[in-house]
Amino acid sequence: MKQTEHILIIGAGLVGSLLAVYLRKRGYRVSVYERRADMRKEQMSAGRSINLALSDRGIRALREVGLMDQIDPIAIPMHGRQMHPIQGDEVYQPYGKSGQFINAVSRGLLNQTLLDAAEEAGAVIHFQHKCLHVDLAHNQVQFETRDGSVLRVQADRIIASDGAFSSGRLSHQLQHNRFQFQQYYIDYGYKELHIPPTAQGDYALAKHALHIWPRGNYMMIALPNTDGSFTCTLFFPFEGTPSFASLQSHEDVLTFFQTQFPDAVPWMPTLVEDFFTNPTSSLVTIKCAPWTRGDRFALIGDAAHAIVPFFGQGMNCGFEDCAVLNQFLDQHEDDWSKALAEYDALRKPDGDAIAELALNNFVEMRDRVADPAFLLQKKIEAWFAEKHPTKWIPAYAQVTFSPQIRYSEALRNGQRQERIMQQIMQLPEIESQWQTEVIEQRMLELLETIPA
Ligand code: FAD
Repeated sequence: MKQTEHILIIGAGLVGSLLAVYLRKRGYRVSVYERRADMRKEQMSAGRSINLALSDRGIRALREVGLMDQIDPIAIPMHGRQMHPIQGDEVYQPYGKSGQFINAVSRGLLNQTLLDAAEEAGAVIHFQHKCLHVDLAHNQVQFETRDGSVLRVQADRIIASDGAFSSGRLSHQLQHNRFQFQQYYIDYGYKELHIPPTAQGDYALAKHALHIWPRGNYMMIALPNTDGSFTCTLFFPFEGTPSFASLQSHEDVLTFFQTQFPDAVPWMPTLVEDFFTNPTSSLVTIKCAPWTRGDRFALIGDAAHAIVPFFGQGMNCGFEDCAVLNQFLDQHEDDWSKALAEYDALRKPDGDAIAELALNNFVEMRDRVADPAFLLQKKIEAWFAEKHPTKWIPAYAQVTFSPQIRYSEALRNGQRQERIMQQIMQLPEIESQWQTEVIEQRMLELLETIPA
């Protein structure tokens, strides 16, 4: 039965390709339809494609389908945040305990590896096929093909993994009574910039860190690439001063960067050119419900939950979606009606939670990491967590290094921890007294008294 059942996936991005691997391993006939041309056949601009932070939730899914051995060589571990103030010394903050790190991975290479894996597993990928419409009553998808003609494809089940502006989701929305949809753009955009390797071919900045230039209302970050370069991303207001709108001339850009990111500018020889050539992109959060329709249709990845990138979790969450769906198919012996119902019920609150966590983390990254009181708070939490690992897992570690904790639980736990830490940070002489038994006991008491 499974061998003849046809599952059609819309979108061969990161999540669609991984899902194809999972479903082929279950024995389904899988076809994937992708709007773009095959990225493996196009000239890639080496080192310039954006990179992503891959962490434990994503790794767990990649490992489950046996792909981590291929990803490891292209992943650069980042063990902590390296903060660059305007003046003074850089500050390093580890992400977690020793051995806990996130990984910088090229989006292009990762997607290519997943496309190869999907094809090797037996999925058929049709490039330059743009989904126009999903007819949910007849289980049929319409595509515009590369010559402009319209193709109709029949499938037993249809899964839309066609990203934040999903065409599959739009069809679902239009054919579903009381479909919930929420879209929210923040007032910030982002632009990629570039730090090449040094003249000696070395990394210009510490290789194994995620670099942040926190500047209160905005920030720049940089992640390492395997060729010795860094991809920088400036997250910046669209309007106001300073903003993308206010930086109009070459001189404006250079003066602004020399004032705000003085240590980075000498490493950015193409700064002005990059600033005016590279696009300014927007950042959106999309929430919707339901994610599924009966036993026939589902949304997955950004198509179900587009989030802002400040927790580095969008892709990781999408990969975890694939693992969860697969787990429910296991549990219900491929009864799609039950599996999709459970997938929707479990993942929707988690999608909402990571969306909120990601928005909150923007304030942490652009502003709070530059505040000595915040850094002290994080040190106290790490110290207490070391002493009481079963009682306290820092909020960042719950999201990033603890796939056994759901995003929705991590959000609730983090809010409780914040209430506790607000009290601890008010204690007299906390700066000098934090590593004492008094503080430890107070935290244990607050854990007893502040409700979960
Ligand atoms: P996409 O990657 O958007 O793929 C969708 C695919 O569908 C594409 O190939 C597209 O061409 C195709 N498609 C679209 N429309 C159609 C159509 N009509 N017909 C056919 N095909 C179609 N996540 C992390 O986990 N870590 C990070 O560090 C991180 N950093 C980020 C930084 C930035 C600046 C941004 C914007 C996002 C970041 N993310 C990160 C989020 C991550 O990029 C997304 O969550 C991830 O790409 C989602 O994968 P997806 O396959 O669901 O969607």
